[in-house]
Amino acid sequence: TDKRRPLIAGNWKMNGLKAAVNELAAIGQGAEAVWRKADLLICPPATLLFTSAAVVIGSKVAIGAQDCHPAVSGAHTGDISAEMLADAGATAIIVGHSERRTDHHETDARVRGKAEAAWRAGLVAIVCVGETQAERDAGQTLEVVGRQVAGSVPDGATAANLVVAYEPVWAIGTGRTPTTKDVEEVHKLIRDRLKDRFSGEGNQVRILYGGSVKPSNAAELMAVANVDGALVGGASLKAVDFLAIAAAC
Ligand code: PEP
Repeated sequence: TDKRRPLIAGNWKMNGLKAAVNELAAIGQGAEAVWRKADLLICPPATLLFTSAAVVIGSKVAIGAQDCHPAVSGAHTGDISAEMLADAGATAIIVGHSERRTDHHETDARVRGKAEAAWRAGLVAIVCVGETQAERDAGQTLEVVGRQVAGSVPDGATAANLVVAYEPVWAIGTGRTPTTKDVEEVHKLIRDRLKDRFSGEGNQVRILYGGSVKPSNAAELMAVANVDGALVGGASLKAVDFLAIAAAC
């Protein structure tokens, strides 16, 4: 009953010009061989959403966005609403990525507002949490992640509208990963908090691990209890690597 269908989500961050859509087409083709193992999602930069959505039509790959503004529309120069992202073909939105929390000073309350915006537009919210190196060194990992989950995940979460991604900040783009024991401990905390708040639904919400996931470590990480897939940065830019990670589920 605790078996959840894995999700392998790729975050392209601020990478990709028009030509990168060829890589997405390759992922769409390769998806035929791996979709039975996992749901597949690629989150390209917003500039490529329309083109990307067209490229994956008829394949087993879905398209998502990397951020949204909490409001529907209005005087917010440079921002993009969840409704606009849905209109461009996104089915999910990453909210609260550590790079947004750091670069744009996003608080848990702000992230929660963005997750609510994703739901308002009918999209899945992928809520990111994770401790810094300093917080881990200070023994505050569980406290920090617990606080982020409490503050960033809105009321009304279901297995269909929410994904949580645990991404230790010090593991993102560094080639370093926590031990499987450390991953298990944090995912268990997140699971317990989701069950406390959302009971049966909380037990079915997918919890992804993110931070330097690559083909060589994916199988080991995906085998950890309560790890229901991965959020992949660098390795999602290459179709062969992304597909190899999905195949490891
Ligand atoms: C991320 O930014 O979500 C991420 C996990 O990056 P990477 O896989 O490159 O560490």
